[in-house]
Amino acid sequence: WDVVRSMLRPAEPSDDGLVDLAPAKEIRAIFRRFWPDVRPLRPWIALSLLFVFVVPLLTAAGTWMLKVLVDDVLTPRDFSLFPAVAAVYVGITLLGGALGFVDQYLATWIGEQFVHRLRTRVFAHLHTLSIGFFDRRRLGDILSRLVGDIGAIETLMLGGVAQLLSAVVQVLLFGALLFYLDWRLALVSLIAVPGFWFAARVFSRRIKAASREAGRRGGSIGVVAEESLGNALLIQAYGREDAENSRFTAQSAGSVGAELAAARIGAMFGPLVELLEVAGVLAIVGVGIWELTAGNITLGGLLVFLAYIAQLYSPVRNLAQLSNSIFAAAAGAERIIELLDQRPTITAPEVPVDLGRARGRLELEHVSFRYPETPMDVLTDVGFSAPPGTITALVGASGAGKTTLTKLLLRFYDPAQGRITLDGHDLRELDPAQLRANIAVVLQETLLLDGTVAENILAGRPDADHDTVVEAARAADADAFIRALPYGYDTRVGQRGRLLSGGQRQRVAIARAMIRDAPILLLDEPTTSLDAEASRRILAPMRRLMVGRTTIVISHNLLTVTDADQILHLQHGRITEAGTHEELLAAGDGYAHLYRLHQVPNGARPRKP
Ligand code: ADP
Ligand code: MG
Repeated sequence: WDVVRSMLRPAEPSDDGLVDLAPAKEIRAIFRRFWPDVRPLRPWIALSLLFVFVVPLLTAAGTWMLKVLVDDVLTPRDFSLFPAVAAVYVGITLLGGALGFVDQYLATWIGEQFVHRLRTRVFAHLHTLSIGFFDRRRLGDILSRLVGDIGAIETLMLGGVAQLLSAVVQVLLFGALLFYLDWRLALVSLIAVPGFWFAARVFSRRIKAASREAGRRGGSIGVVAEESLGNALLIQAYGREDAENSRFTAQSAGSVGAELAAARIGAMFGPLVELLEVAGVLAIVGVGIWELTAGNITLGGLLVFLAYIAQLYSPVRNLAQLSNSIFAAAAGAERIIELLDQRPTITAPEVPVDLGRARGRLELEHVSFRYPETPMDVLTDVGFSAPPGTITALVGASGAGKTTLTKLLLRFYDPAQGRITLDGHDLRELDPAQLRANIAVVLQETLLLDGTVAENILAGRPDADHDTVVEAARAADADAFIRALPYGYDTRVGQRGRLLSGGQRQRVAIARAMIRDAPILLLDEPTTSLDAEASRRILAPMRRLMVGRTTIVISHNLLTVTDADQILHLQHGRITEAGTHEELLAAGDGYAHLYRLHQVPNGARPRKP
């Protein structure tokens, strides 16, 4: 018994820091939650419900023909009826087969429609969430929810319901037939039912716990794989393959353990139920001999009775598996609900100020900010004003908060204190989409989309024609290298643009910013990935790009900043110096120091154009 008990124990919950699940939500709540995705499918579901009734009826009718064969053909040895009975039997079987086909295909079709709807809804929801959400989450976890857990909800809401319903229909139908054939035998056959009930009670709680744990461990495999394979280059460069393999092996083994624990419990239920079934069948045969002699049932009747008993017990046995998948599905539904419950922290006000095309006056007033995870302010009391069409340069050591400032200007986050205004309106009064439409960015980590070069430039302004694309590329000093690519502008750049060099990516990003033609320009270290020669070449196009736009440029390459209208020196999130190049040099503080440092290795004397 102890061995049995130990086999019934689910895997110990692991302590691997993954998001743990909330207690199982009520199945009813899950149904309410996902009903909108089911509603449009109602007519089809109604049609498929029809099959739930018709298909078992045909099965019962087919089996009934066995009774006719035994009692009316075999026992009286009268073969005159045989062709007719055989024809009916074949007819019923054919009809049952055809309807069974339609039934299965329809069920799958409904399920896929549901999955498609829900999947696209969750995906679109994820894109409404603010950047802060993606800072906190592990991508692999989100992916495994999007791919795996949505299927689980389908199992619960459609497949599971259909299975449950057809089990109920079968139990009622075959139960009624049994009583019709011989009510005494039918009563005898019920002796196994309390056994089924007791077994289901004992097992269901354990199955639930085990399948939750198995689902969680399965998800963590995806998380580890995504993180590891996404960093293949780094891992190979530092020879971390073995370490990564053993990390993955540990996750995989943990999942195997949890799956096996769940399978052990599920698999023990089957034989137990079978034992009960055999007991039931033997009891029926025992009493059946007596009934046969008393003439209460024919031999054919007894035969069909036993066949129906199997039809009655099998849905009961399936219910064990069903409860297994329902609990797995409930856990999956919780994970999806958790995603759907996330609300964007950055939202448009109810009545946003309509800016149209902004003039481009940016002002920061006493802005302080910290990320949720950071213990200290990343920006403290930052204030400056950037009049339309001027260039503001931000310089400072890495980690000073420069990139963070650009993220606030794009309203990926809101300041904790103070405010940022555009043309006099607090950014929080604007629709974020409209705000961002007024800004062109070249980010520090130049990211490209997995598409062609032309598509990447067009992302800046989707309605531009090809000539405009080429013009922008030429202005960004990118046209020549793009033409040299295997398919020119139609060359695919690969995931995140990794088929291009860093400098090439950056120039495509500059072309994208050029084509956007926005009144505000944010350049976050736009020349970091360029060599001295290339960054000198890009200066002229960048200056052209800046003309007439409010530009915030962050650069270590002080060549790009010397002619800015104002230079802000950021240190530990505070502006410590502000002024023009000449003023700051004359002051002889941090900026002057930076500038001297910068000149030596570069060997170039920056000039004013
Ligand atoms: P810079 O661009 O000047 O090099 P950043 O603005 O990127 O500096 O970073 C400023 C500080 O904010 C750093 O200490 C960094 O660790 C922290 N930081 C940056 N991004 C995040 C983030 N998404 N979540 C938490 N902390 C962050
Ligand atoms: Mg930065």
